[in-house]
Amino acid sequence: MLTFRNTFTVFFILIGIGNLLHIGYGIPIHGWYYLILTLLVLGVSSYGSSYIGSNFHFRVICRSKNNSKKQIAVSFDDGVDPVQTPILLDILAKHNMKASFFLIGKNCIGNESLVKRIFEEGHIIGNHTYSHTYWFDFYWKNRMYKEFKQTDQIIEKITGKRPFFFRPPYGVTNPALKKALIKSGHLPIGWSIRSFDTQQKNSASDLIHRVTTRLKAGDIILFHDYVKTVPEVLEALIKFGTENGYTFVTISELININAYVE
Ligand SMILES: [Zn+2]
Repeated sequence: MLTFRNTFTVFFILIGIGNLLHIGYGIPIHGWYYLILTLLVLGVSSYGSSYIGSNFHFRVICRSKNNSKKQIAVSFDDGVDPVQTPILLDILAKHNMKASFFLIGKNCIGNESLVKRIFEEGHIIGNHTYSHTYWFDFYWKNRMYKEFKQTDQIIEKITGKRPFFFRPPYGVTNPALKKALIKSGHLPIGWSIRSFDTQQKNSASDLIHRVTTRLKAGDIILFHDYVKTVPEVLEALIKFGTENGYTFVTISELININAYVE
């Protein structure tokens, strides 16, 4: 399996073989050998770190396998959004459908009643860092851990429940995040269908097409609260899913794991 450890083990073995042939047996090894190896390992590492389903650094749950019940889970990242989140909650309530919200800690401050509403209406809440800064993936373990704790405390204060699920910002994973998650005990959750709703060039119909043509039982779909086209996409997805025999559930129900720490 392509993991961080395997990749670097093979890299150092190949470097060692090169050195052995060169130094031990006098066989000339061209500098290109080392350059190509380095570029390869950098390419594999950047793919593994940026593709959430790669399990390169650690295992991330991205879907439910063998889902015979035709269940799918819709998830919304980066909330709460004081304007858009209530629109999404109204749509979900109208269809009696449950979803999963990965909240940014700082966005909950001043919007406590909205966080409470999400929880009380039967959706699940996960941790999506406190700041969601662009620099998050450059943080050391302890700074990441501090953000997890800050957000957990905010959510727990409002709902009485401490989130167990964590979603990495931008879907990026790295060794520091692995260590921070081991320390905090959160369960990393990814997605199997990325809607690409944050890309402005994508219209609602582009997003609907992208999601509905990929949909399979057990999928976890990624949207973002703040994107203006998402309510229209959600309505269309519910219609498509219902007509095709899918049931919409929370990620907790989909993977049969409690969303909160008991
Ligand atoms: Zn995010």
